[in-house]
Amino acid sequence: MSLLVSEIFYSLQGEGRFAGRPSVFLRLGGCNLSCSGFGVNKDGNIGCDSVFAADISYKNEWQSYLDPATLIEDLKKTLPNDKKFDIVLTGGEPLIFYKNGVLLETIRYFQEQNTLITIETNTTIEIDFEKYPEYKKCIFAMSVKLSNSGENEKKRINKKAILAICKNSKDSFFKFVVDKKNIKELEGEIFEIIKGLENDIYCMPMGESQKNLKLNDKAVFEFCIKNGFCYSDRVHIRVWGKKNKI
Ligand code: SF4
Repeated sequence: MSLLVSEIFYSLQGEGRFAGRPSVFLRLGGCNLSCSGFGVNKDGNIGCDSVFAADISYKNEWQSYLDPATLIEDLKKTLPNDKKFDIVLTGGEPLIFYKNGVLLETIRYFQEQNTLITIETNTTIEIDFEKYPEYKKCIFAMSVKLSNSGENEKKRINKKAILAICKNSKDSFFKFVVDKKNIKELEGEIFEIIKGLENDIYCMPMGESQKNLKLNDKAVFEFCIKNGFCYSDRVHIRVWGKKNKI
């Protein structure tokens, strides 16, 4: 089965535990959720800043890979030199392809080169780690969606998928998007999700532009101090403003 790729690019990670690290981003096309929140793209069903990778109506802008060699070559071509880098698998929701042969072969290739692979996921898809042990060597950024995503709770919370990642992966951390307006309600939701788990918790201010980040950052920073969470900024937005694809 072919692997749908929205974009491949080299940059510095802008969010979460690995912010600032040189990384090649492999952004896959398609998502199993359709978050209407996050204040972007008010005309469509999906309102996140990755709508161009999440929404199937962008499919003709995606590239289809049928063999891993071409994908590996295209990933390597983005690098500025032979220095160490990470691979960030993102989307959309990249785990909709977690059984895909092209993806698995690519992951195996880079793991053999000792490249760190981090996976940014909405954590709704339960991985069979015994059948696909490649994922045991990956680090997961579990970006579980809260009520401010606008998505239905039954669709966005899958406790079994969260537990499988916490138990089987090399490492994992939570990364929640928080906004000032709903901060009280979100606090309760976060504590419900992390109950019994010891992972690091990162909270990021909602905002796809410098202006909207500014509306939420102070409240989220104070929220992290109060709760003993880690604060994650969105460095790429601070530096460049809105993503150019939306
Ligand atoms: S899960 Fe992520 S990529 Fe998918 S629609 Fe929601 S915010 Fe967008």
